[in-house]
Amino acid sequence: MPVSPRALFLDRDGVINVDRGYVCSPEQFELVDGIMDLCRHAVSLGYLLVVATNQAGIGRGYYTEADFLALTDWMCDAFRERGAPISKVYYCPFHPEFGVGVYRRESDCRKPAPGMILQAAREFGIDLHRSVLVGDKESDIMAGVAAGVGCNVLYWPKSGRAQPPAATLASQTATHLADVVQLLGDSQGT
Ligand SMILES: [Mg+2]
Repeated sequence: MPVSPRALFLDRDGVINVDRGYVCSPEQFELVDGIMDLCRHAVSLGYLLVVATNQAGIGRGYYTEADFLALTDWMCDAFRERGAPISKVYYCPFHPEFGVGVYRRESDCRKPAPGMILQAAREFGIDLHRSVLVGDKESDIMAGVAAGVGCNVLYWPKSGRAQPPAATLASQTATHLADVVQLLGDSQGT
């Protein structure tokens, strides 16, 4: 019987690209140091790469779903060309307060809810317990914990921000994405 794959779940803004607030074009898209090495290493160990990203900028009307999808295509091409193919990008365009029109609503896909991760697990048959999540906000970590992801890493670069939250639910805190490479090998079932 085939073994269920494990996944490396990645937040986008602040983990894949530098979070400048509502990034919506390739010109604004600057990779976070170490992300490509981390992703290539994960693929070499058999992890699926899955992105789960809140995109309330769509709901707020700052950019369109088409803008987001065009940037996603560009991003996925860049990762594939560099040997780190992304299996799927899940996104939540809704916001309960600031969404406009159909985008103003609660959603069980908006982190900290686990909907996007659970959907990925269903679609790819992912073994969540043996999977790893990297996020730069506590809401990412909460989504991972709620979904049952085994290792939830709070990425907290030393530059620019205050101390990480004392009460984080994260399994680990990493100040550089290179620190996460080690965790992939350590994760259960290697
Ligand atoms: Mg983020």
